[in-house]
Amino acid sequence: MGRIAYVNGAFERHGDAVVHIEDRGYQLADAVYEVWALFDGKLADPEGHFARLERSLSELRIDMPMSRAALTVVLREAVRRNRVKEGLVYLQVSRGVAPRDHAFPTDPTPPSVVITVKGVDRAATEAKAAKGVSVITTQENRWGRCDIKTVGLLPNALAKQAAREKGAAEAWFVDELGFVTEGASSNAWIVDRDGTLRTRDTNANILRGVTRHTLLDLIRDQGLKVDERPFTPAEALAASEAFITGAGSLVLPVVAVDGKPVGDGKVGPVAKRLRSLYIERARATAI
Ligand code: PLP
Repeated sequence: MGRIAYVNGAFERHGDAVVHIEDRGYQLADAVYEVWALFDGKLADPEGHFARLERSLSELRIDMPMSRAALTVVLREAVRRNRVKEGLVYLQVSRGVAPRDHAFPTDPTPPSVVITVKGVDRAATEAKAAKGVSVITTQENRWGRCDIKTVGLLPNALAKQAAREKGAAEAWFVDELGFVTEGASSNAWIVDRDGTLRTRDTNANILRGVTRHTLLDLIRDQGLKVDERPFTPAEALAASEAFITGAGSLVLPVVAVDGKPVGDGKVGPVAKRLRSLYIERARATAI
């Protein structure tokens, strides 16, 4: 983790940075977050992440803590102070500090803002992507507003831990009809035998992944076929390829589901190519 964190207007040493015990993010998960990938110290997919942040806040009736322009300056300053070029920047905005009560505070309460920055070893992540990763499946048990990027991530944390205990990198949630919704921290994709890309539509109870959105544009630019339609774990195993997308994973090939190989069990050409195309575009458009 970077050495400097931003908390409510001040840059502090990471180890000393604290929020109040009655912060509603801490007490009630009454907070949203965003994560941008950093390429050469710049924010990837800026528009998509800012737009989703504004939407998440507005759905919860939390004010934007500052303008988008001001927030961009603060995020960049946090990145600069941490001297991180390749990595991730995390932003959390809570409803603020107030005596504990489920209902919103009645007194004017400024939102709390926390920013942290983390470096990523791109050589290590490229090696991981070249090998591909495994995922497990787990029953969908999250609330009905997964489109809001809240810090209420307990089901995601439990699913991720279950994955880790099985040597997998991600857990795919599966709904009551047997379809994959998304990963604990990523969107899920397959490449059908006929080359059609498939990922769940965003009318479902999933996060509208920014990486997913950018990748859909890229896929269409490439003239590839794409179908925003859910798939089952069995369809993933029968597919020729699978992968996940997210600010952390970028585009990461999946070679096994629940211990069984996807296709021939090797990283396929489509996921590999989409990963490099995505990274190229994200680098070129980062701000
Ligand atoms: N789905 C979930 C549950 C996530 O937590 C994330 C990212 O953290 C994603 C999907 C991918 O979203 P994005 O591409 O915007 O990072």
